[in-house]
Amino acid sequence: MTVRVRFAPSPTGYLHLGSARTALYNWLWARQNGGSFVLRVEDTDQERSTQEAEAAIFDSMGWLGLDWDEGPNVGGDHGPYFQMQRLEIYREHVDTLIARDAAYRCYCTAEDLKKAREAHTAATGNDHGFRYPGTCRERADEPDREHVVRLKVPTEGSVGWKDLVKGEIEFGWETQQDAVLMRRNGVPLYNLGAVVDDLTMGITLIARGDDHVINTPQQIRMYEALGAPVPQMAHLPMILAPSGEKLSKRHAAVGVLDYQELGYVPDAVLNYLVRLGWSHGDQEIFTRDELVEKFDWEHVGHTGSKYDLKKFQHVQASHLRMLEPADVAALSQRWVTERGLSVAEDDPRLVAATELVMPRAGTFIEVAEAVDYFFRDTPEVDPKAAKKFLTAERAERLTALVTQLEAVEGWRRDGLEQHVMAWLQAEDIPLKEIAQPARVALTGRKASPGLFDVMEVLGRDRSLERLAAGADRARAAG
Ligand code: GLU
Ligand code: ZN
Repeated sequence: MTVRVRFAPSPTGYLHLGSARTALYNWLWARQNGGSFVLRVEDTDQERSTQEAEAAIFDSMGWLGLDWDEGPNVGGDHGPYFQMQRLEIYREHVDTLIARDAAYRCYCTAEDLKKAREAHTAATGNDHGFRYPGTCRERADEPDREHVVRLKVPTEGSVGWKDLVKGEIEFGWETQQDAVLMRRNGVPLYNLGAVVDDLTMGITLIARGDDHVINTPQQIRMYEALGAPVPQMAHLPMILAPSGEKLSKRHAAVGVLDYQELGYVPDAVLNYLVRLGWSHGDQEIFTRDELVEKFDWEHVGHTGSKYDLKKFQHVQASHLRMLEPADVAALSQRWVTERGLSVAEDDPRLVAATELVMPRAGTFIEVAEAVDYFFRDTPEVDPKAAKKFLTAERAERLTALVTQLEAVEGWRRDGLEQHVMAWLQAEDIPLKEIAQPARVALTGRKASPGLFDVMEVLGRDRSLERLAAGADRARAAG
């Protein structure tokens, strides 16, 4: 059977990391099996659904590279899938459920339900466990009277399924009530929309958050009544904060697009998300292709995993280093520009500088920060570094270094290093006497990539000019 999976977000906010992980597991499964990945926008909660949230879903998935085969913007028979455009289909299925005595119209008013709830409270002392008492189950069917539609759940026995992630799950029917499937205005509630869509879209496996375990009994009941096989189910535990609570904005950046703004690599986000709840031996770093190859349901954890920023940063930095310097340079460009540095995208110095700073940068923002001094007329000088290293007694050494460097043929890292090292040795000057002062003069900072690397990328004129300026500053420091 061809694998058909789906991701069915409700457009009520930004795309949360947990939802992105659900999308990812589905996408990986589709790609691994040559199946289809369907995107369906569950927009039936009209009060809470917004265009911005919809756009955020598309942008987030686009950024992560989770492309869908069917759904919004696909066209033809393959979409768009917005539930509000499918009301007719839900209506037909509800009619079938009613005709088969698996659902019924309920004419109770809000006032009726309030009274029933009060009666329950009076009898039991509280309103926990209040369930719709089934008042309309045996009432005559009056399609023209204002109504909602309710599912008729069995009054005894139980329902269960073998969940790919959670194992055997069973609910006694006494825990279930005749839940509303369709509102008065003909708009479906979640359970109806999801089942009708999963059925008519031929979904073979449903992977979603485990907050939907409680909805599954009602959904199974509908499949049975509609005479359709129940798809395989995989309920994914949620992502937890380090404290064990559900991860929220209070604990971390939880929107997918937040990580774009933080200068993360999409593949790193995927890698970190996949590992939050799935393992493959003790491997931590995976390329996208490896994930497609190795992902399985068997190794998805049954319980929630905790968000760990340190691990995320480690995965992120590892992915950054897997990219080509030219790509990192291009992807960092936005932040380079934001720093007010003017450097053309094809300036070869940008790629060279990026290559130098990559081993110690965690994000594109850090890359931009680290290449800053290469692209200013004069570097921004850290006053503490200057105070410590550009001191009067260093001035002569810096001037002597300039003289030495002026004599070097060509301007390549190795030639520069050989020449300077030979000079230091001949004069019996320890490297540390010039290394930090030269670094501060060239970069304005205490830490940087290797001095000779920096000089090569800066070029001859800039390097000599900065060293001479550093010597002047040192002299002036008195
Ligand atoms: N719209 C539901 C949600 O966002 C989808 C649940 C499902 O995948 O069935 O939670
Ligand atoms: Zn009723």
